[in-house]
Amino acid sequence: MTEHPGKPAGAALEKGAQDKSALNPRDLDIFEFARSGRSASGTVRLSQLPRMLNEVPAEAPDRDTAFTWQAEGFKQQELQDDGTEGPQPYLRLAIHGGAWLTCQRCLAPYEQAFHADTVFRIVQTEEEADEFPLDDDEFDVIVGSRHFDLVDLIEEELLLSLPLVPKHEVCPEIHESLASGADGAEGVDSVDDVPEQEIEPEERVNPFAALESLKKDGPGSKH
Ligand SMILES: [Zn+2]
Repeated sequence: MTEHPGKPAGAALEKGAQDKSALNPRDLDIFEFARSGRSASGTVRLSQLPRMLNEVPAEAPDRDTAFTWQAEGFKQQELQDDGTEGPQPYLRLAIHGGAWLTCQRCLAPYEQAFHADTVFRIVQTEEEADEFPLDDDEFDVIVGSRHFDLVDLIEEELLLSLPLVPKHEVCPEIHESLASGADGAEGVDSVDDVPEQEIEPEERVNPFAALESLKKDGPGSKH
């Protein structure tokens, strides 16, 4: 957006561009990244994230979905431990994508969307990280490194974004079984309040029984 479309940006930014292409998300000097206010983006595939892949059922139509990520380093003048003002490094990380999970209501795979956008305060040591309250809403705390694995942090964020109870917004089977009753949308909402074991749509509607009764009536009963 800030680049002039007529000018080849590569010429002026040659050195920077070279540095950027050398950026390895698996081995990132995150202090330098934040200090110089750099940004990076990329795509990770589910197959690169073994702990996330554990959550994906074997029968999922796609076990290698993609996540796009954007990382942005910045610093803020803040009071440091020694009482002086100094630049505090931060990282903002946004992740978007989807993964197939098992619906805990109907046990069928469904695609869950993931959207994470987190600001991390980058500290030097574990001890420093422990000083921060865990329930801070504004930012999370990570221990930085000159060889930081950003892909690992991306996986961590995705695992934290997993729904407590993965489920369809509307399970296809349950939706159909309720269609005969009240207005569809209202009926589905109320399903959320019903304990799962009480919902057995397959048993309620038996298409074969319905077929049998049709056969018995025969074509003669046509009105
Ligand atoms: Zn479902």
